[in-house]
Amino acid sequence: MQYIKNYINGELVEPTLKTYLDNYNPATGEIYSLIPDSNEQDVELAYQSAKNAFKEWSITPKEKRSIYLLKIASLIEKNLDKLALAESIDNGKPLKLAKMVDIPRAAANFHFYGTGILHYASQAHSMEETAINYTLRQPVGVAGCISPWNLPLYLFTWKIAPALAAGCTVIAKPSEITPMTAFLLSEICIEAGLPAGVLNIVHGLGAKVGNAIVSHKNIPLISFTGGTATGKHIASIAAPMFKKLSLELGGKNANIIFADCNYDKMLATTIQSSFANQGQICLCGSRIFIERKIYEKFKTDFVAKTKELTVGNPLDEKTKIGAIVSQQHQQKILSYIELAKTEGGKILCGGTQINLTDQNKNGYYIAPTIIEGLSYDCRTNQEEIFGPVVTISPFDTEEEVLTMANSTQYGLASILWTENLTRSHQMANNLHAGIVWVNCWLLRDLRTPFGGVKASGVGREGGFEALDFFTEPKNVCIKM
Ligand code: NAD
Repeated sequence: MQYIKNYINGELVEPTLKTYLDNYNPATGEIYSLIPDSNEQDVELAYQSAKNAFKEWSITPKEKRSIYLLKIASLIEKNLDKLALAESIDNGKPLKLAKMVDIPRAAANFHFYGTGILHYASQAHSMEETAINYTLRQPVGVAGCISPWNLPLYLFTWKIAPALAAGCTVIAKPSEITPMTAFLLSEICIEAGLPAGVLNIVHGLGAKVGNAIVSHKNIPLISFTGGTATGKHIASIAAPMFKKLSLELGGKNANIIFADCNYDKMLATTIQSSFANQGQICLCGSRIFIERKIYEKFKTDFVAKTKELTVGNPLDEKTKIGAIVSQQHQQKILSYIELAKTEGGKILCGGTQINLTDQNKNGYYIAPTIIEGLSYDCRTNQEEIFGPVVTISPFDTEEEVLTMANSTQYGLASILWTENLTRSHQMANNLHAGIVWVNCWLLRDLRTPFGGVKASGVGREGGFEALDFFTEPKNVCIKM
């Protein structure tokens, strides 16, 4: 049995109380490693180490910080196979997906901010002959970074890389459900020679470790990605302490399909945007609205293509849909399918748990599920399910679909399929979302602002926005 360790002050250490939590392989339902059940004391050790390291790291020239980040990026690339396998086993996602998306993106995060910091400049404001103002951008301090289980290393590094680039030192907590690649990252940081205490990784439960980070009186900044309810709780603690907060929360994204779209491209991409990573991506389009003229055709083709998706062992090359991350989450998704039925939904395909055989017989699988016949404002269409479950609904006009698309408390992403340029602009302008993808999905340029509106979050990650977040602007005004 492998014991995961915390990474504090440059070393791999046991939790102070030496207690551990079980870590499950969702593809088999077996416990395969143990996670530190850390507590406030461990967070305090990490804080002391990050505080000490901040003195040097915050004044280390950015060119030097960049070299460390680029070294970590290349070590992630060098360990691609090992990290992808670990991610797949820990999370249940198809190995192929981890190899193509998760791990390359984790390396890209370090590459992007390792180079981005070299181009980051602050502003000056001249008052003609009276005075000159310039803005200092100083690292905020010890940053608390908390991430979820769906894209474990991808999202963990999306916070850590800009924080380190900006000159902050970090206490990071990965999800207790998927801790393995964060542990492997600590080994990589040791190999890269990252100075002790610059990054500290404390494993354990949200209610203990996460809470201790969020409520620590000397951690001035929290970057959080996870569920909306957790985000609300974090904000209630951090806001009265006047901490800087970035919250990337849940979504219930609309995929809007007009009859004039490029049909084949739309269909192929809609399969992805519905079911990639078992539908456990905050950006998945789980509410699909189709212009009535093509509704029946779409329904037939979409159901047929969905039935072709192989649900199986994540390590198998042929597998398109792997395991759901945990038994608890599997049960939650199944309960939403039951709810949909009681709300009048008709299951067009899927709708059930799948029992595989042999070593996967106790794994957590659900058939990709399509539901029709629900009103846009029922619970199934308003609440985040975060699984391989989508609803389809017809619409007649732009106004009608906008009302339905904008009706949820969320506003993370939207997907739009049309060949009409004017309509694209109008719809993009009127959708309540932080991101609108037109004729594509999950096409990411890391320079763009990333985040949501309404209950999908506060603030933006990505590009220089993240460097702005991890630095504090200070205006210096010099009279001539
Ligand atoms: P979660 O909110 O349960 O947990 C996220 C992280 O917060 C975990 O590390 C957890 O241990 C920690 N946590 C839990 N309680 C805490 C507390 N009281 N104090 C501090 N930390 C605490 O979310 P999850 O189930 O891991 O992830 C799924 C959710 O994440 C979905 O809602 C999904 O939409 C969202 N998500 C959003 C984005 C985005 O960019 N907007 C990206 C991925 C996932």
